[in-house]
Amino acid sequence: MPIYEYQCGKCRKLTSVLTTRVSEKVDAVCRRCGGKKMRRLMSRFAMPRSDESRMDSLADPSKLRDLDENDPRSVARVMKRMGTEMGDEFSSPEFDEAVNELESTGDLSADDSSNDDDL
Ligand SMILES: [Zn+2]
Repeated sequence: MPIYEYQCGKCRKLTSVLTTRVSEKVDAVCRRCGGKKMRRLMSRFAMPRSDESRMDSLADPSKLRDLDENDPRSVARVMKRMGTEMGDEFSSPEFDEAVNELESTGDLSADDSSNDDDL
């Protein structure tokens, strides 16, 4: 079951949203301020079941030791590394887009003057 991480556009609080389907649109609401300008960061368990065993090996703590879930750029870095190990299944435009989105989100976090939430 996928868990999406959302970051509030107002107070930047991270909120995890559990969904029943990967493609389902989620109306995330900030737990802290109730804001609805939520930016999706990543899904942790969006893997097909057949990939679970491979995900187990990828979940090796030594590979995730520099992962900071509160730092989208750190997440993007780990996702890129995982994408390399996973091969073709991760070499999709959607994956690249997700990584790019994480990296741009990281830039946004580093620069509070940027407040474009139209995406
Ligand atoms: Zn908020």
